[in-house]
Amino acid sequence: MSTPQGARISTAQLAAAVLFLAIGVTFLSVGLSLRTPSGFAITIIGFFMMCGGAVTLVSMQMRRLPNNRPTSAVGERYCPACGTGNARSYAFCQKCGKPLPKPT
Ligand SMILES: [Zn+2]
Repeated sequence: MSTPQGARISTAQLAAAVLFLAIGVTFLSVGLSLRTPSGFAITIIGFFMMCGGAVTLVSMQMRRLPNNRPTSAVGERYCPACGTGNARSYAFCQKCGKPLPKPT
């Protein structure tokens, strides 16, 4: 109960990504306001930090959403005796030889 399945993404990782994004935006705006070569460099750094934070956030969201594991029961016939998963075409268990139930 202490570690719920939904909270697999560490909050530290999330905080780091948001921090990167925030610092990147700050650098970007500061760099743009400075009309100097160093300001340009700060803009570039800020841009990359922003991108890094954004990409990290997006990838974290992507990892969280499609958590539906493939339904392994589809196309397989499980042996009632030993529990081995057999291909749908098999009539008998490949491990113990017991007849498999007909696929519904
Ligand atoms: Zn079996």
